[in-house]
Amino acid sequence: MKQRKHQHLVETIVNSPAKMQGNFRETAELISELLCQHLVLDGVSIWRYNLDLTRQYAVSRFALNDDVYQLRDVDISLCPSYLNTLKTNRYIDASDAASDPRVREIESCWLSGRGVKSTLDVAIRINGRLEGVLCLERANSRGIWHDSEIYVACQIADQLALTLATQQGYEQQEILSLFQSAVEQSDYVTMLVNLNSERIEYINPAHSKMSGIAREKVQGGSVGNLTFFNQYPEQAQLLLTQLREGKPVSGEVPLTRPDGKRYYLKYHATPFVTQRGNLYALVHSEDNTQPHLYQAELERLAWCCGLTGLYNRTHFIQILERTMEGVLVLVDLVGFKRFNDTYGHDQGDVMLIEMARRIRHFGDIHKAIEIARVGSDEFALLLAPSQQLGEDARIEKLYEQLKAPLHIGREQVDPKPALAVVDIAEVADIISPIAGADIAVQYAKKKQGNNIQLFNSALVSAFHQDSEIERELHVAIRGRQFELYYQPLRDLQTQQYIGAEALIRWHHPKRGVLYPGSFIDVAEQSGLIGHIGSWVLEAACKQLNLWQHHNINLSMHVNVSARQFFGGHLYEQVWQLLTRYRLKPRTLILEITETELMEDVIHATNMCKELSELGVGLAIDDFGTGYSSMRYLKQFPISKIKIDRSFISDLTVSRESQEIVSAIIAMAKALNISLTAEGVETCEQEEFLSGCDCHQAQGFLYSPALRSPEFNEFINLEDKLRDEV
Ligand code: C2E
Ligand code: CA
Ligand code: CA
Repeated sequence: MKQRKHQHLVETIVNSPAKMQGNFRETAELISELLCQHLVLDGVSIWRYNLDLTRQYAVSRFALNDDVYQLRDVDISLCPSYLNTLKTNRYIDASDAASDPRVREIESCWLSGRGVKSTLDVAIRINGRLEGVLCLERANSRGIWHDSEIYVACQIADQLALTLATQQGYEQQEILSLFQSAVEQSDYVTMLVNLNSERIEYINPAHSKMSGIAREKVQGGSVGNLTFFNQYPEQAQLLLTQLREGKPVSGEVPLTRPDGKRYYLKYHATPFVTQRGNLYALVHSEDNTQPHLYQAELERLAWCCGLTGLYNRTHFIQILERTMEGVLVLVDLVGFKRFNDTYGHDQGDVMLIEMARRIRHFGDIHKAIEIARVGSDEFALLLAPSQQLGEDARIEKLYEQLKAPLHIGREQVDPKPALAVVDIAEVADIISPIAGADIAVQYAKKKQGNNIQLFNSALVSAFHQDSEIERELHVAIRGRQFELYYQPLRDLQTQQYIGAEALIRWHHPKRGVLYPGSFIDVAEQSGLIGHIGSWVLEAACKQLNLWQHHNINLSMHVNVSARQFFGGHLYEQVWQLLTRYRLKPRTLILEITETELMEDVIHATNMCKELSELGVGLAIDDFGTGYSSMRYLKQFPISKIKIDRSFISDLTVSRESQEIVSAIIAMAKALNISLTAEGVETCEQEEFLSGCDCHQAQGFLYSPALRSPEFNEFINLEDKLRDEV
């Protein structure tokens, strides 16, 4: 009868939803209550142990009376024999709890003073491991525990163990799936490799994102399918060996994806042995390309020009130092500084970016070895060696491409490139390629026509001579070694001298009288022309004042260089001189060459207007040698054109020169501009010019440039001669 009742109790528990769901606490609560009632107990409590059996945690308690003692966690580290008996004997039945030493052990921990007389404690075990305990209590001693009671308590403890196992199974599964979904979501690659079979047992989706290889192709397959193993087979085998020896490995390698893109793989692998003794490796890896990109960007910034994206001078010079042959081309933009000042820096940047684009484009087509921006308005190219540098079509092409007009805003701008070309192998014993290019580019800038200069050793000696002249010019300025000579200008109609051109001479202490052709360029380039030009203007005005004082009615022509003209001080200086020497209006005429005037049309127009308002005449010197534009001529308030000597010298023999000169004269007439022919040496030339109604002439036919006393004498003599006639 009892047996059946007990069996029914067990069935109730087995079939309870709490048990079936693996809910240990609810099952424990149900059991506590049912057992208490069923076996007529004073109390039932169920406990769980921690892993190392040092604490027990209360799960449930049911008591008939109200004297419910506090359910609390208990330290059981001092109950060895109690725990041992539970482990080995399954249960401890103490009909007189007070006298059982094992129960006393545990009683001293938690049951003392409860008045419990007899206890039955049954172990809850899974696979022989102690997981908890089921405690039955009777307050009054009712004798020993019946076998049937012990039997049912053990059965119920088994059910508790089963419930716990189910719960643990569920929990473990949940933890596992939690881990798995965390790993699946991770941005870092996680991989489990069986080191015995070399199979990849697991790999998360981050891998296919990083490597560009589908997960199906990797998971479950051999490690040989990994990019790392494909691209670094030896290194990869070495890693496997180290892992098998139990050593963790880590590192970084650059890899290539199937689409050809490169990335850096940073990896770390740790070997471990599973519970069943299998050797595995847990591999973590990630795409570590970003820091490399940052590094590359930093390097790029250190080596590149921020505006054009080309390499900078530092980088280029380094490359050049390691280069033994090839062609170095240095490109300088003539007048860029002035362009920048006139149009503003933004427009200047536009010009530089466009030049850089053209150079890069050229470099792509002609396979340039290196391209760089080596100065504010200087670019350099390193090209493959050339058989015949003088006939290298590449250079001409580059020059033409750079010269092509570009549009900045609504304006069309004509860039003025000057190219220096150096054969690196050839200059090796003379000079460094870049120093050679620096010298050559100075000459390229000055050239008429194509501004291309091949470097040759003659340039070096010319350069040294120029440096010498520059040094001596400093001394000359301080030592008043300059003198103005005057060359008369003759009116072809009245046959009278109407003016003089002031031409500078240098009384060199060693070399005698030097003509401007031997030092004006150096003065211009070194900036000394500013000092010299001021002195010339002052001396010429002083002389003009003297003439005017003596009622000699002449105009004074003074040459000004571009640097002086655009330098910013000319207007003020001329104004001061006009006031100081009280010069008659239109008697001072400044001469500037056509080419120089065209360097900056906007600026030049403004300057011409301002000077004209001051009463200063403006003459275009060496007219016909540059590429004059009628449009500009009309735009400038010009008072005079001086036809270049080159057209006059062959006037009587060359039809072409005759036509050019006639055309210039006709044009000047149409624009109502006065005209002087330079370099008239023969009467035939004079005749031709008079015949075309050219206004004035200047040249050796009349007189070379003379010192002022001789010039005055020459004029007076002329006057006398005329008076006599
Ligand atoms: P330019 O302005 O064209 O001056 C005329 C040059 O032609 C002068 O040479 C003059 O002596 C020369 N000449 C005059 N008539 C004849 C002739 O019938 N036949 C030949 N073959 N030559 C003749 P110079 O004095 O040697 O001056 C050369 C250049 O130096 C000038 O050319 C001018 O551009 C520049 N220059 C002279 N003085 C100054 C100056 O004070 N300042 C600046 N910036 N440049 C100056
Ligand atoms: Ca002149
Ligand atoms: Ca001239």
